[in-house]
Amino acid sequence: TPIIEINNIRKTYELGGETVHALNDVSLEIQKGEFLAIIGPSGSGKSTLMNMLGCLDRPDTGTYLLDGNDIGKMNDNKLAMIRNQKIGFIFQNFNLLTKLTALENVELPMLYAGVTANERRERALEGLDKVGLKERAGHLPTQLSGGQQQRVAIARALVGQPAILLADEPTGALDSKTSKEILTMMKELNEMGHTIILITHDLEIAKQAKRMVSIQDGQLFENGGVLLGHHSV
Ligand code: ADP
Ligand code: ADP
Repeated sequence: TPIIEINNIRKTYELGGETVHALNDVSLEIQKGEFLAIIGPSGSGKSTLMNMLGCLDRPDTGTYLLDGNDIGKMNDNKLAMIRNQKIGFIFQNFNLLTKLTALENVELPMLYAGVTANERRERALEGLDKVGLKERAGHLPTQLSGGQQQRVAIARALVGQPAILLADEPTGALDSKTSKEILTMMKELNEMGHTIILITHDLEIAKQAKRMVSIQDGQLFENGGVLLGHHSV
C-alpha cells in the first residue's frame, strides 16, 4: 500500500471577495521508498500542498491518507502527533536553533517525544555521523557553513525515523556546489530506503529526483506536465 494516498483534495482561500483555488482536485500516490520532486512556479500552490503533505493543514474536501491515517478526520492534537511521528521536515533556511549546538538541535525532536537523555545523545550522534558531521557535534550553527547547517537539519529530520522526509527548497539558500552535495546526500538517503518528497521551483533540482510531478494553478501533472511543454491527459 502507498505511504501517501491523496484523492481529489481541494483547498480554497477567500481573498478580498475572490476565491483562490490553491489546490484544485489534486490526487497523488506516493510509494514507500520513492524520491519524488514537486515542481511549480511561485503562486502555483506548492506551499499549500507542502502544508497539506506535512499535516500542517487539512483539505477542504477530498482525502489524504498518510501511512493509513486519515488526516482530514483528525483534530489538531492528533494531527500534531501524526506530524511529529511521520514527517521529517527540511527547510530552505535550515530552521536550527541558534543557541543550541548541532548535537542539541538534533536531540530536540526526541526531547519532545520523551526519549531518555542517554538515548537522545546516542541517536543524535548516530544521526550526525550519518551526515558526516560527528566531529562538529559541539559547534553552534553560526560556526558551521550553510551546507553543514543543512546536514544538521537533515540529521534532525531523520532521528525520529519518520515515514517521509519533506524538503521545501532545501538548496534554496546554498551555492550550486553545496546544493549538489545536499542533493547527493538526499539520493544516498533514498537509496538507504528513505521516502523523500522534494518541493522546488527549480527544474535542475527537481530533475535529481526519481519521479517528478508539477503543480500549476493548483493542479497537479505527472512528469513535469505543462511546465515541460507536455499536455495533461
Ligand atoms: P514559499 O513560502 O512559497 O515556499 P519562500 O518563503 O521560500 O516561498 O520564498 C518566498 C517567495 O519567494 C515565494 O513566492 C517563492 O516562490 C519565491 N522564491 C523563493 N526562492 C526563490 C528563488 N530562488 N527565485 C525566485 N523566487 C523565489
Ligand atoms: P507557492 O508556494 O507555489 O508560491 P501557495 O501555495 O503559497 O503557492 O499559493 C497558492 C495560491 O493560493 C496563490 O494564489 C496564493 O496567493 C494563494 N494563497 C496562499 N495562501 C493564502 C492565504 N493564506 N490566503 C489567501 N490566499 C492564499
